[in-house]
Amino acid sequence: MIRGHIYYYARRRGEIETMAYEHEAHRRFIQTAFDQAVKSYNEGGLPIGAVMVEEGAIIAAGHNRRVQDGDPIAHGEMDCFRKAGRRPRYDGITLYTTLSPCMMCSGTVLQFGIKSVVVGEDRNFRGNIDLLRDHGVDVVLLNDPDCLSLMQRFIRERPDLWDEDIAGRTNV
Ligand SMILES: [Zn+2]
Repeated sequence: MIRGHIYYYARRRGEIETMAYEHEAHRRFIQTAFDQAVKSYNEGGLPIGAVMVEEGAIIAAGHNRRVQDGDPIAHGEMDCFRKAGRRPRYDGITLYTTLSPCMMCSGTVLQFGIKSVVVGEDRNFRGNIDLLRDHGVDVVLLNDPDCLSLMQRFIRERPDLWDEDIAGRTNV
């Protein structure tokens, strides 16, 4: 009985340490995605950034370039896919994005078989976390205060650009 308890707590502690390590990694990589979002904001674009991580290292970083490039499909995640270039497989990649992904970006995640997505926040845009999970993608939602406040500020300052980015369809 006592041994069982000790084993339980030891295992529990190991799980908590693993969770704490993963949480710290998520914070670090979402910070890089957030830096991309700030870069875009400073360029007059939409403050949404993304990074791709493989084996603990960033392989690509990007941000929404819709305004900068006049490109309607240049969302942060799509820019990140482009920056990563051609790859034979994507199943070992984790995609970090500051804002919950839209249908186009979620579809791209599913198309290429990304199994893990970390989302900065889903309060300014609900996105498609449920869709991704329904297709077996592991989604971690951080609701990071920096991601939340920058997006909130942008929507307040430039409601026209935000509306254009999602074609007025806040529920997609
Ligand atoms: Zn998108």
